[in-house]
Amino acid sequence: MIWNESYECMGREEMREVQNKRLRTTVEHVYHNSPFYRAKMQELGITPMDIETIDDLVKLPFTTKTDLRDQYPFGLFSVPMSEIVRLHASSGTTGKSVVAGYTRKDLSTWSEVIARTFTSGGCSRNDIFQIAYGYGLFTGGLGAHYGAENIGASVIPISAGNTEKQIQLMTDFGSTALCCTPSYALYLGEAIEDMGIKDKLKLRVGFFGAEPWTEAMRLEIEKKLNIKAYDIFGLTEVIGPGVSYECYAQKGMHINEDHFLPEIINPKTLEPVASGEVGELVFTTITKEGMPVIRYRTKDLTRLMYEPCSCGRTSVRMHKIMGRSDDMLIIRGVNVFPTQIESVLMEFGETAPHYHLYVDRENNTDTFDVHVEVRPENFTDDMSSMLNLRKRIEARIQSVVGIHASVKLVEPRSIERSIGKAQRVTDKRNLYKE
Ligand code: AMP
Ligand code: ZN
Repeated sequence: MIWNESYECMGREEMREVQNKRLRTTVEHVYHNSPFYRAKMQELGITPMDIETIDDLVKLPFTTKTDLRDQYPFGLFSVPMSEIVRLHASSGTTGKSVVAGYTRKDLSTWSEVIARTFTSGGCSRNDIFQIAYGYGLFTGGLGAHYGAENIGASVIPISAGNTEKQIQLMTDFGSTALCCTPSYALYLGEAIEDMGIKDKLKLRVGFFGAEPWTEAMRLEIEKKLNIKAYDIFGLTEVIGPGVSYECYAQKGMHINEDHFLPEIINPKTLEPVASGEVGELVFTTITKEGMPVIRYRTKDLTRLMYEPCSCGRTSVRMHKIMGRSDDMLIIRGVNVFPTQIESVLMEFGETAPHYHLYVDRENNTDTFDVHVEVRPENFTDDMSSMLNLRKRIEARIQSVVGIHASVKLVEPRSIERSIGKAQRVTDKRNLYKE
């Protein structure tokens, strides 16, 4: 194992001291340099003097995506524009983009936390990294790029898409590490299988994130590409990828908590949940200069794990993201997360991990249709066996999620593949809203 940084295995008390100090510095910084945070703190009647340790975090105001949108484009920057050397933006699905600005030091922090991510997956200067995350305003491509360069690996900045070329370079250049979204990894795996060239690949590891994926999806990708597939997490508002990463134990993602302080809150009461409970993930950046965020509400649902990890890292881990509060569908009064449906579908050997959920409204009742592909070897004209499979899936969704879904088994390769973040839900009910 390669230890990249002593911060990854620092004693808890020592880490707390580092966090206390950095939090104080950050609060001073935003109070004096961000009119937005200064006003928010003044509204609550607090000054930097009130923040001594990380236990005082709860006194600070939350920041939401709406705040960032209202401050579009640069209202949350805490340094003059002349200090900003890079801009990124996340488009999201609705409304204005969220913009992030980085100073030179922020970029160095970013490449450092991504370097930890890659070394924890056993990578080094001897690896050839194929970066198939999109390059551009999206943080995935450039984020992974500089992290891979930082560890001295050879980087192929191919960006997302152009699947044929991806596979050609992967074989010709002998890529050993792949970075992209899990849905694109699956797509690549499928194409490689079709070409029958799996044994020509040198790939041994992949770092996948930017969208939720289940354990079953991991096994599928690992099998298709013959690699170890690691989950990596991040968001533009906090820094981009590199906020947390899995180690070889693949049991939760270690948070780079010397840079990003996590909290889990109840999204309704906004109170912290009891230790280890599921809730909304909140981050405070404690080393960023360009655009620090205080108690940023990610809307991602997970829980924190403080138990020691078998890898020896002492940093807190977060469970795989279970869903986003704004991805949650309410269908006939029942809360449904797309990842729950994915987990159920993946229990069936006959179906492929390609699905799409359609929600609509008819006669004042919600309709819920689940389209899922049947694997080529299981696709048959025998109607009774298809009907039987459909009924079994419907029964399983009913028992796990507590709702009836109409399952439609569709032909192999008929659901659109994605090269970036997959779009798996069409909720037509939104069309009827004012
Ligand atoms: P963006 O800033 O546009 O890259 O989007 C960040 C969001 O992507 C996060 O808030 C999560 O909802 C999602 N995301 C990123 N990484 C992961 C991951 N490993 N697992 C699940 N969701 C993720
Ligand atoms: Zn670990």
